[in-house]
Formats: sequence, structure tokens, C-alpha cells
Amino acid sequence: MSAVNEAKSGVLGAIGNTPLLRLKHASAETGCEILGKAEFLNPGMSVKDRPALNMILEAERRGQLKPGGLIVEGTAGNTGIGLALVANARGYRTRIVMPNTQSQEKVAFLKACGAEVVQVPAKPFSDPQQYQHVARRIAEELAEEEPAGVLFADQWNNLDNRAAHYSTTGPEIWEQTGGAVDGFICAVGTGGTLGGVSTYLRQQKAGVTIGCADPAGAAMYHFFTSGEAKATEGGSVAEGIGLGRSTVIVEDVSVDVAWTIPDAEFMPVLFDLVAREGLLLGASAALNVAGAIRLARELGPGHTIVTILCDSGARYQSKLFNPEFLRGKGFDVPSWLED
Ligand code: PMP
Repeated sequence: MSAVNEAKSGVLGAIGNTPLLRLKHASAETGCEILGKAEFLNPGMSVKDRPALNMILEAERRGQLKPGGLIVEGTAGNTGIGLALVANARGYRTRIVMPNTQSQEKVAFLKACGAEVVQVPAKPFSDPQQYQHVARRIAEELAEEEPAGVLFADQWNNLDNRAAHYSTTGPEIWEQTGGAVDGFICAVGTGGTLGGVSTYLRQQKAGVTIGCADPAGAAMYHFFTSGEAKATEGGSVAEGIGLGRSTVIVEDVSVDVAWTIPDAEFMPVLFDLVAREGLLLGASAALNVAGAIRLARELGPGHTIVTILCDSGARYQSKLFNPEFLRGKGFDVPSWLED
């Protein structure tokens, strides 16, 4: 095959088909095969490139996006980054609304890509000033004046988000494990990953065990165990996860096990992944690996457990890998970061 035939179709062709990495330390500790899907290797360095691509392509197919059109989204940052990259490659602009509590690296990345970034104070979802509501209003207002129209991506209510994982992440995991996957576990931001992957895997293998690893302060633990979307106590440093309500994406999702995994449990895993595996990842990836370790203990030795390595630690150097930030939050500073 010629080099040209091998060439991917630009950034769009570089999204997905990520490697599945064996985590040797977690595997050795549990006697299971613990495998992480390397989503930080996507062009936008996160798992959200996949839904960003699918939401845009499906909107194009439905005639909701015209050349030069504007895409508006509320996001903790990663979906915005995926949207900005795909939008640039397809000839659209982006306006991204984020709470001002998210890492400066994500904001800088978005601005570097030419996205217009609107940062708003962090508020509970019940407050009309919360970023997701602000994004919706901005999209509605701009629809009146934008000549090529506005797409509100609306990832929490957009089933094209979950479909991206049903049609790509799930099948890749199935193929990469040769069907040997016994368990899958991850955290929920919108639930697109958990919903899409779990639905696909269960269709291939009814007995696969699905788990939800929830950060403190989120409502998915209670939602999946009792049906009531009630938040647990406390909070988490993990960005991009922690859903507080039922949505169209999660309402028909079910799991076999759900746990709230406190920061104190996954922060050592975050640093262990750096020191023993050479993987510099974000906090949600560490929480997922901590969840995979719990699931491995639950299922017992000899099982194959897959989780998601959602994004890169480069995205959080000013926080998770900054001794001052860590001390301020009461976390141990790893020896190599001591100043
Ligand atoms: N980890 C990070 C860092 C994220 O940004 C997100 C998405 N917001 C997730 C995990 C969760 O993905 P999902 O929206 O598919 O639940």
C-alpha cells in the first residue's frame, strides 16, 4: 500500500483506535489483567474527542451545521477541546462556556485553538447561572444573529455522545481483548462512555460485569444502587466527572456494581501510574484505575478488567502535579515533586 493510502484523513482520522495498555502493577497486585484504554492519546488528549466528532458529524448529516457555523457548548473543557479541533478541521467556529474552577491548561489549550472561551463562576446545576444553562442561553441568543447558524452540542442530552462510544470505544475494547473482557468500569461525566461501552459489551457477552466508579460529591452511586440521584458527601479534585442528576443518557443505563471512590484512595494511584507505569494522567483516569482494582478484588484473580485512561496529566500540571496545590488539599506530595 502506498504511503498516501496509509494516510489518515487528517485529525478526524486520528480520533479513536487508541491502544489498550496492560497496567502491570495493578495487574500484579490483583492477579487480574487490568487494562486501560489510552484515550489521552487522542489528538485533543482526551476521551471526549470521540463524542465531539460524532456530535458534529451527526449534526452535519441532519443539516444542523452549515459552513462557517458556530458550535456552542458548556463543558469542563475536554469536550470543548475535542469540538474546537474537529470544528477547525470542518470549517466551523466554537464558543466554549466553562466554570472558572477548571485547570488553566484546558483554558489555554482552547484559546490556542482559536475557541472563544467564556468562563463563569461555578454554581450548582439548580442555579440559572450554572455554565450549562449559560451555554444554552448563549446558543439561543446567537442563533438570531449568526448567518450560518448555531449548533448547541448539549453533550448531557445529546445521544450522539453516547453513540460515539457504542460504535467505537466498545467495539475496540471487544476486539482488543479478543472477547476476553470480564469487567468494565469507569466514572461518569455525562455517562456517554459508561452507557455506550456497557451497552455494546453486554450485547456481545451478557455476563460481563459493569461498574461505576463515582467521585465523592456525585450522585451516580445512589442513582445506580437505589434509583435516586442523591449526591454523596464531600467533593473531589477530579475534573470532568461527577454527575448530580439523571439525564437522557444515564436514565436507561444499569450497572452491576457502583462505588464512591474517595480522593484519598485514587491520589496514590495517580502517582503510582507515573512512577511505575510511566503514565502521566488526569485524576479521573486514576479514579478509574482505583475502580478497576476494586472490581478485580470483587471478581477474584484471573479476570480481565478494562477501564478508561480519560486524559493526560499534562492538562493538570498546575494542580495535580504542583506541590503547593497538593499540600493545600491535604494530599501527600510524591518524593520527586518535593521542593
Ligand atoms: N474524565 C474526564 C477528564 C472528562 O473530561 C470526562 C468528560 N467530561 C470524563 C472523564 C467522563 O466522560 P463521560 O462524559 O463520557 O462520562
